[in-house]
Formats: sequence, structure tokens, C-alpha cells
Amino acid sequence: MRPDATSYGRFLAERRAEVLARIERAARRAGRDAAEVEAIAVSKTVGPDEVLLARRAGWGAFGENRPQELGRKLEALSGLPEMAGARFDMIGNLQKNKINQVIGRVALIHSISSEHLAEAVSTRCEARGIVADVLLEVNVSGEASKSGFAPDELREAVERVVGLPGISVRGLMTMAPAGSADAARRTFSGLRELAVELRARTGRALETLSCGMSDDFEVAVEEGSTLVRLGRCVFDQGYALKG
Ligand SMILES: *Cc1c(COP(=O)(O)O)cnc(C)c1O
Repeated sequence: MRPDATSYGRFLAERRAEVLARIERAARRAGRDAAEVEAIAVSKTVGPDEVLLARRAGWGAFGENRPQELGRKLEALSGLPEMAGARFDMIGNLQKNKINQVIGRVALIHSISSEHLAEAVSTRCEARGIVADVLLEVNVSGEASKSGFAPDELREAVERVVGLPGISVRGLMTMAPAGSADAARRTFSGLRELAVELRARTGRALETLSCGMSDDFEVAVEEGSTLVRLGRCVFDQGYALKG
């Protein structure tokens, strides 16, 4: 445990209260109920000790982006009574050869970025007799550096993907371009509109919209996010919340 665990624990609790208050205000500005918005703590840059402190501070869901690191955290933490009821999500790029390290261990995979990956996850889940809850990652902004389905590609593939037997598609996920609140807003509203269209096309609820990170979560909540993924603003004492 880090030597300054007490003061770091106090920071985590105070920061969590501030983040939740900001989510509440952003929801109210949009005429939404903040209870529709879940926040997960992205623990990819911290170790198991910090995750445990964050759990004590009230966080109940964690996001990891690398299968090995996910495994390391689960080994260190599972079985601890304080972690009972907490969950881990996979939020990062998933390579096909790592699928078996992830399925059955996480509550939700946010990052199904292609039809091939959806099929591969489905096949491996079927072989294990499980069904994985997943989100389809969409490259709404069209940046070359971002992974995910192009919107048109998803329109074409979505009925096949939601029909795969080893996965249950719960909604969509996206990442906004860094540095511009306007571009973030367009990205998040684009995700929301795409979800409306895909619900009509598939008849599925697609209820989860995973969007919003430390720099843009308030905009995301205003634009309909139901799941914000927060890393630096949760764990980094040097990170200043905007505004
Ligand atoms: C790291 C990461 C986050 C959290 O980003 P912050 O800016 O630290 O809040 C959210 N989503 C994904 C996919 C990430 O990789």
C-alpha cells in the first residue's frame, strides 16, 4: 500500500463526489435523470492498491484496456471482501488471440470494433457456453487513428452482428477527438443518432451509450451518454477538472 494511502484515499473520495456532482448538473442541464448515467473508473494507469482505495472511496466498476493487466488486477484483488460486487469492463483494443483472457472475466466488453472481432468473440463464448455482454465501438468522428466500425459499415453489418449467438449487444461506444468540445459534442450526438437508427433497424434496445472521458464527460452526459469512462480525473491528483 502506498505510504500516503490515507491522503490519497481522501483525494479519491472528494474527487468522486465532485465528478458525480458534475454528472448530476450536466444531466439536469439536458433534462435527464443522472441515475441513467453510470461512471466507471478506468484503472489502466494504476495498480491494484489504488483500485482497492478507489473501491473504498465508493467506485464500483473499473475499466481496463489490456488483457494482461486485467488478469494481474483480478488475481491481486478477487477474493478480497471489499471487492465483492465490484466489476471490471474491457475498454481497449482486443486482439483475437487475447479473447480467451477476457471473456467470462469482465462484465462488459466496450470495444468490439469490427464484424470479424464480433464473430471471434461469439465463437469463443459459444465454445465456453457463455454469452458476453458487448458494445460495438464506432468511429463516429472518422479520424484515421481511431478504431471501430465506420457508421456505414455498422449500418450494413448490424443485423448480422446482433444475431451472433455468443454475444449480447447492449449498445454502442465511441471516443471523441481530443481537444475540442465542439468536435466532442458532434461525436456524441452522432453516436446517439446512430443508436436511434440502429434500434429501428434491429428492434434491439441498444440501451447503453458508452462515451465521455475525463476531458469531455460533461458534454457526453448532455448528449445522452449512459456510461462515462473516467481515468485521469478519478486517479490523478495533478488533473484539474475543467471549468
Ligand atoms: C484511457 C481510456 C479512458 C479514460 O481516459 P481519461 O482521459 O484518462 O479519462 C476511457 N476510455 C478508453 C477506451 C481509454 O483507453
